[in-house]
Amino acid sequence: MYITASGKHKGKLTEKDFILIRFFEVDKFEVLSASDGAKPSYETPLHISMYLVNKNIKSILHVHSPNSVAISHFFPDGLSLSGLEIIKAFGLSSHEDNIHIPVFDNSQDMLELSRQIMSHFVSMSSPGFLLRGHGVYSFGIDVNDAYIKLEAMEHIFEIILRLRIFQDLQDKKFGKKKFFILGLKDEKEEVYSR
Ligand SMILES: [Zn+2]
Repeated sequence: MYITASGKHKGKLTEKDFILIRFFEVDKFEVLSASDGAKPSYETPLHISMYLVNKNIKSILHVHSPNSVAISHFFPDGLSLSGLEIIKAFGLSSHEDNIHIPVFDNSQDMLELSRQIMSHFVSMSSPGFLLRGHGVYSFGIDVNDAYIKLEAMEHIFEIILRLRIFQDLQDKKFGKKKFFILGLKDEKEEVYSR
C-alpha cells in the first residue's frame, strides 16, 4: 500500500511524499520504496488495520480538522445519525436510514488502538471513525469514494456545531424552548420538537 511520509504538509503532497510498503500484520510491514529520509506515517498501523479488517477498503483519508476534533469531545459513544440528506453520500438510499460514526479514545499506542478499531469494524457500514481530540478517518473503495465520505462527515460536523451554537443562543433568548429537529439518536434527551 502507499502511505504518506511522516511530517509532510498534507496540502502540498507530491509523488515523493508517498511511501510504498508491504504489510503482513498491523505491526509488521516493510518499506519497498521511499525517497531519501522519508519515513512512513506514525499512524501506519491504523491504516493497515483498516485494510486488514475489510478487503473492500482500498483508500483511507485522515485529517485533523477542527470540526472533527470538536465533535469528538461531544459524543463519547459516537454519532448515530439519521434525518440528514447528506447521509446519502454514504451510499444509503434514504435520509431516514441510520449511520454510525464511532469515536475511539486517542492513544500513542498505535497497536492497541489498531486492535480496538479492528474489533469494531467488520463492514463498511460506517463511513469512518473519529479519534477523540485528534481527527477523523474515512475509507472507501477508492480515493474519490473516501474523499466524498470525508467531505460528507465534515459537512455533518459543521451542521451539528452550528445547531449547538443556535441552540445556545435560542436558550438564552427564549429559555429552553426547542424547535430544531436533529436526528441524533445518541442525544435522545435533546431531540427537538416543533
Ligand atoms: Zn493523525
